[in-house]
Amino acid sequence: MRYLVTGGAGFVGSHLCACLLSEGHDVTCVDNLRTGRRENLAKLLGNDGFRLLELDIRDDLPLEGPVDCVFNLASPASPPHYQRDPLDTLLTNVEGTKHMLELARKSGARFVQASTSEVYGNPLEEPQSESYLGNVNPCGPRSCYDEGKRCAETLCYIYRERHGVDVRVSRIFNTYGPHMSQDDGRVISNFVVQALLGKPLTVYGDGSQTRSFCYVSDTVRGLIALSHVDGPLFGPVNLGNPAEITVGELARRVIERIDPSLGVETHPLPADDPLRRRPDISLARQELGWEPTVDLDEGLTATISYFKEVLGA
Ligand code: NAD
Ligand code: UDP
Repeated sequence: MRYLVTGGAGFVGSHLCACLLSEGHDVTCVDNLRTGRRENLAKLLGNDGFRLLELDIRDDLPLEGPVDCVFNLASPASPPHYQRDPLDTLLTNVEGTKHMLELARKSGARFVQASTSEVYGNPLEEPQSESYLGNVNPCGPRSCYDEGKRCAETLCYIYRERHGVDVRVSRIFNTYGPHMSQDDGRVISNFVVQALLGKPLTVYGDGSQTRSFCYVSDTVRGLIALSHVDGPLFGPVNLGNPAEITVGELARRVIERIDPSLGVETHPLPADDPLRRRPDISLARQELGWEPTVDLDEGLTATISYFKEVLGA
């Protein structure tokens, strides 16, 4: 099969490209390297079935022939990254997603959208199932991303209803693992890098807010399962690990693993930071036969080894 992976030089996208290539497929990655890195693709560049187009998803793409499936992952994902240029974040998700849906329509390709748990905002329901409509601030610092992703879901819906594009929408919850940038700004990469450098861990707020962390191989397996499922799926599907943990407890676990003498440094909680987040993955279990298999301890071990190598620590 011929796959187009947008955002393929990023953290999740690079693992997805590697996985598709290892299954013998032809993979074209489109990435403007805004937050992604060529290093993430080091083992893939030079492989006959792989090419990197260093372009924006809003640009005209010089593709050789039609594609069978588009995975649309292009978008900064870490709060500091997506807030750095909010208009670009919003328009990547709106104009860029529309452009990729047009490409899928013309190619007759299946389209898998990387949406996010952020569409639930600061949720008033726990756990979050796909039927929950969310609690999003349209005018806050996170809105360029949250509303961009919500609008991208609407575009997917329109292209399925009006143009018959075979669209699948994944709502990805916090994912972590190797290939995150050391300056990514998300909590697991921050804590692991800080601990390896012997610095105190930066806990925002009182650390009582929760997240549910999914190891990247599980997320990628879920995305591929979603692309394979037969027959159209009419709604979005949560992909995440339901094991919920407070940020304070996460800091404690990282410290215990790397250097028990380290402490934490408290910083203000960013505006609109969701207080709780835990996926209901019943639908993914039922429709995709998917569930995560890597627990936090195992995933942290692999992530710590990766950053040790990157930092030479
Ligand atoms: P990332 O920042 O590592 O990767 C995003 C990639 O998209 C980067 O390589 C970046 O250069 C590229 N990109 C950004 N704007 C682009 C544009 N206009 N044109 C072409 N390329 C562009 O982030 P990630 O964690 O790998 O996230 C990948 C996708 O998964 C994103 O769409 C994100 O919203 C979604 N997601 C990720 C998580 C997570 O926890 N990692 C959670 C929910 C959703
Ligand atoms: N966080 C933190 N210290 C950091 C980075 C993040 O305490 O150095 C907190 C952040 O406020 C949030 C949680 O960790 O409550 C997850 O943040 P992340 O940026 O990883 O993802 P998101 O908020 O998008 O879920």
